[in-house]
Amino acid sequence: MTEHSRVVVVVARCSRQPGKAFGIRCERSEGTSWSGTWAFALRESAAEREGYSQSIEGSLSMDAAYPGCPSCMRGGLAVCGSCGGASCWGGELGEHPCPWCGTRSRVEGEITRLRAGGDR
Ligand SMILES: [Zn+2]
Ligand SMILES: [Zn+2]
Repeated sequence: MTEHSRVVVVVARCSRQPGKAFGIRCERSEGTSWSGTWAFALRESAAEREGYSQSIEGSLSMDAAYPGCPSCMRGGLAVCGSCGGASCWGGELGEHPCPWCGTRSRVEGEITRLRAGGDR
């Protein structure tokens, strides 16, 4: 992983259909601000081969052009406070079930750290 890459693909799972993974193209605008600009369906096995297991540090907001989760079309993104996995989110407050580890956690505020795929 290079420290200078400006575009990374983060792997997320659909929280309504946990078997469905998707990739989120994140572009760094400046410093540690990232914006999610695109989402596409992908298979997790393929994601590993492509080296998509990258993480980003910083804040992530979704671009106006972000199309939403390819499976359920929801445009938000939640990051699990327990495992750091990303999943689609409909913007509702309250408990959000993490499709990676099964933890139900409260979605709060903005995303400051995101881990993708397998942790290494
Ligand atoms: Zn979804
Ligand atoms: Zn989790």
